[in-house]
Amino acid sequence: MDLGIAGRWAIVCGASKGLGWGCARALALEGVNVVMAARGAEALETAAARLRAERPAGARNQILTVAADVTTEAGRAALFAVPGGPGRDVDILVTNAGGPPPGDFRQWGRDTWLRALDGNMLTPIELIKATVDGMAARGFGRIVNITSSAVKAPIDILGLSNGARSGLTGFVAGLARSGLAARGVTLNNLLPGKFATDRLRATLQAAADKAGQPLEVIEHQQREAIPAGRFGTPEEFGAICAFLCSVHAGYLTGQNVLADGGAYPGTF
Ligand code: NAP
Repeated sequence: MDLGIAGRWAIVCGASKGLGWGCARALALEGVNVVMAARGAEALETAAARLRAERPAGARNQILTVAADVTTEAGRAALFAVPGGPGRDVDILVTNAGGPPPGDFRQWGRDTWLRALDGNMLTPIELIKATVDGMAARGFGRIVNITSSAVKAPIDILGLSNGARSGLTGFVAGLARSGLAARGVTLNNLLPGKFATDRLRATLQAAADKAGQPLEVIEHQQREAIPAGRFGTPEEFGAICAFLCSVHAGYLTGQNVLADGGAYPGTF
């Protein structure tokens, strides 16, 4: 299927690794011009070089990088100032940043909450604010926020994530229905269950250490609990993201798309 977005401009946050990288890759392979952002310059350049090499021979789409912390105002400004980039005339925005740490809410003070809200709620909202009206004026826009299956099935120790991402989810639900779809702009959230990324590996290692069991045992237990019998891959996450960004998904907005190998047990 031709997704119909070749030549468009995308900004993908948290794109040097994991799910953001999967999204950048899928868009780049569709011929989209991509601005990839992450804090660590070295990993980002390596990831971008890998994507440039993976494109079909003769592909002319740009793959640009910006080493920036998207949770800061200066970092977000840098996204729109990349030489040769689209400025704020972005067609596709994929918001993403690291998730907040696990813990017990009794230990969290206001500053801890504000950091989580900044990273996983207010940063995506600021990026949407900077781009959405331009998308509507040009008649095409796709916004995909990488959130978490924890929005649908909260995980007790991830209270910061449950709270901050639910705030973003409520905000997006309202904004998506504010007349933007009629102007060609959709907003959706993509909810990962368990995907094989560095973050998941770190979480599994922490669980193994806590349980005093080998990593392989914990990995096996968690895989077995997923109907698909495995963790997802960044590549398949990226493919779903690219579809949501495609011309074919113009009637799909304000949704929370769960990709979890069937782990969530409900009908809806
Ligand atoms: P990952 O493998 O650790 O990759 C995170 C990416 O984001 C890296 O490129 C990282 O690069 C970048 N990043 C982190 N903080 C950033 C910041 N402030 N500004 C710019 N870039 C930043 O993580 P992942 O597994 O892909 O997870 C992505 C998101 O999905 C996270 O919010 C995570 O909580 C959520 N999630 C993941 C899973 C899963 O199974 N993997 C499940 C549920 C939810 P730098 O560190 O160099 O900046």
